[in-house]
Amino acid sequence: MRKVQASPRHPSGTPARLVLSDGEVDFLWWFIQGSIMDPGVRSRLNAHWGMCPRHALAFFAVEAAFRPHLIHGSTLLYCSLMERAAHVLDGHGLHRLVPSTVIRHRLAVRGPCHMCALGYGPHSTASAPAERLTQGREIKTALAFATHNNRGWRLHVCGRCAQNGSDALCRSHLIEEMAQCNPESLSAQHARIAEIARHLRCFERSLRWDCRDTDTDEDRGALIAAIGWCSGWRSILGTFDTC
Ligand SMILES: [Zn+2]
Ligand SMILES: [Zn+2]
Repeated sequence: MRKVQASPRHPSGTPARLVLSDGEVDFLWWFIQGSIMDPGVRSRLNAHWGMCPRHALAFFAVEAAFRPHLIHGSTLLYCSLMERAAHVLDGHGLHRLVPSTVIRHRLAVRGPCHMCALGYGPHSTASAPAERLTQGREIKTALAFATHNNRGWRLHVCGRCAQNGSDALCRSHLIEEMAQCNPESLSAQHARIAEIARHLRCFERSLRWDCRDTDTDEDRGALIAAIGWCSGWRSILGTFDTC
């Protein structure tokens, strides 16, 4: 019988560095092989703005562990989510007339996290090859990616998730803020989201053979920024807080 992995927490309640269960690693291994492309899966990911904080980070970390030079699934997903977010908050044209209650509704999650709904969590087991589980649980590559591309995401860390007074807001804190939000601060959040989307598009393009090596650390870091914006920053900071 496999050992159950604990999910340690700092005494403050901040999630500690991500430790994935066998079941989560095995699921994500299959996920990056192609099940992410299933239309039903994509629609659940779209409805939830990705996945819950734990599984959003897990998806990136496992993909980085198996495909350090081609983090394709996460990049495509977050490219499309950030472009959608930028569109929802677009301050020009017709969107200027959209009431904030409608924008808040469009930014809210609908439906559960895809992996949580399937029952995956810190205690899930799997009967997969031991090397696969060891490789997938290895956080080193994700950590190196976050460290080297720090410039692309640090400035987008949500001030409320990090409790550091920054003006940046993640999706759920933006929804909270929008009740009182003045148009200037909303337009600043829109500019930030559009910036993340623009860099992420550059990163996505650089994964094509004919555009290889055209990406910058801001472009790569935008992937972390997008995960943080969609699902919140606490799990990310708990895992990458040495960056
Ligand atoms: Zn989940
Ligand atoms: Zn936040």
